[in-house]
Amino acid sequence: MFGKVLIANRGEIALRILRACRELGVRTVAVHSEADTEAKYVKLADESVCIGPASSSHSYLNIPAIISAAEVTDAEAIHPGYGFLSENADFAERVEKSGFAFIGPRPETIRLMGDKVSAKNAMREAGVPCVPGSEGALPEDPKEIVKIGRAVGYPVIIKAAGGGGGRGMRVVHTEAALLNAVNMTRSEAGAAFNNSTVYMEKFLENPRHVEIQVLSDAHRSSVYLGERDCSMQRRHQKVIEEAPAPDINRRVIGRVGDRCAEACRRINYRGAGTFEFLYENGEFYFIEMNTRVQVEHPVTELVTGIDIVQAQIRIAAGEKLWFKQRDVEIRGHAIECRINAEDPFKFTPSPGKITNWHPPGGPGIRVDSHVYSGYTVPPHYDSMIGKVIAYGDTREQAIRRMRIALSEMMVDGIKTNIPLHQDLMLDERFMKGGASIHYLEEKLAAKSEATKGK
Ligand code: ADP
Repeated sequence: MFGKVLIANRGEIALRILRACRELGVRTVAVHSEADTEAKYVKLADESVCIGPASSSHSYLNIPAIISAAEVTDAEAIHPGYGFLSENADFAERVEKSGFAFIGPRPETIRLMGDKVSAKNAMREAGVPCVPGSEGALPEDPKEIVKIGRAVGYPVIIKAAGGGGGRGMRVVHTEAALLNAVNMTRSEAGAAFNNSTVYMEKFLENPRHVEIQVLSDAHRSSVYLGERDCSMQRRHQKVIEEAPAPDINRRVIGRVGDRCAEACRRINYRGAGTFEFLYENGEFYFIEMNTRVQVEHPVTELVTGIDIVQAQIRIAAGEKLWFKQRDVEIRGHAIECRINAEDPFKFTPSPGKITNWHPPGGPGIRVDSHVYSGYTVPPHYDSMIGKVIAYGDTREQAIRRMRIALSEMMVDGIKTNIPLHQDLMLDERFMKGGASIHYLEEKLAAKSEATKGK
């Protein structure tokens, strides 16, 4: 095991990684920007290093500053968390070339999966079901593009190979609009991602977002830890996640999960990862792989009893997976609500000082958050201030516990989206389970129409 790990992130995930390290008996180095000097995890870490001013491009994205912080503190490994540099293959490469372990996949794997065209090709070869579309990048010849569009069938979606964060995509409903849409997506992708390669997929009208969590050691052993349903989204941002996904046949999950684990062995995957799928009419369609820990990993931890962050660290230290697929058992149900510092219905950010913070507790409740009474939410970063996760024997019990938790929770001084979560925990469609990725947007649009009329 490593003697010391540097945490190259901030917020709740920095605290989560710190806790995993402490349980493993590993010392920690927190790096932070000038805006995060007062953060709880910075104080809890064995050592801390300021790596730059508030703006993330000068701090949390500052590769030389992070590497030199690891050098001066004698850290042995770097955990990138999620966001920031976590899926930056050049960063992973620099970390390894500088003699540190990168707690994540090999740089070449991150690169392969970071290009959605090469990722999809690799997945197709491994037998992972993909959304039908152009096999690979779209050609230059307009006639060929039109031909592919006809074969796929409208509506289609044009996606940038280098896209991410919900950007670089365009839905096309008719052949008349196709070539213009391809050209526009190409030029936008060139400007935004420095890669103008685009591809085409069938546009699925009403899918759910269901993803498979995997763990893979450096010795070609891979397992999947079941699935998560993350269909409650606003602007492609997940708001609520749960495990297991309601009303999906376990045998279907088993088949897809096996393909994902097999794909990991084929690409020599190392660490934790997530295969994201759209699920419609009983079928899974791969869209992309995330080569890092996810915000929503706790729901999987609660239903499997496996600590995913500790697993990442142990795998990076070279340990072999200490259990087999048949040992992975899904038990009960877990739901996570992301708590954001924002207006609950207008969604404008609400940074500032939290004058009073009372997190909930009791049976089946877990709160992952770095904030406290007197903490000031800085305006420079993501608005998420924590996550409330409820576990129950059944989905109904998890929902009941979540309602109680949200009603107990107090966050004064800033606005949060807790009222939105309270609303959703009583929403009939949510309670039924299995709503599509459009449900939340539609609900919010209907609500804003209704208030307009008043
Ligand atoms: P990103 O990396 O930008 O998040 P994804 O490929 O994961 O891009 O797609 C983001 C979201 O876009 C999906 O969660 C889904 O809502 C929508 N989407 C992507 N591909 C399709 C498709 N073929 N059909 C319908 N919706 C899609």
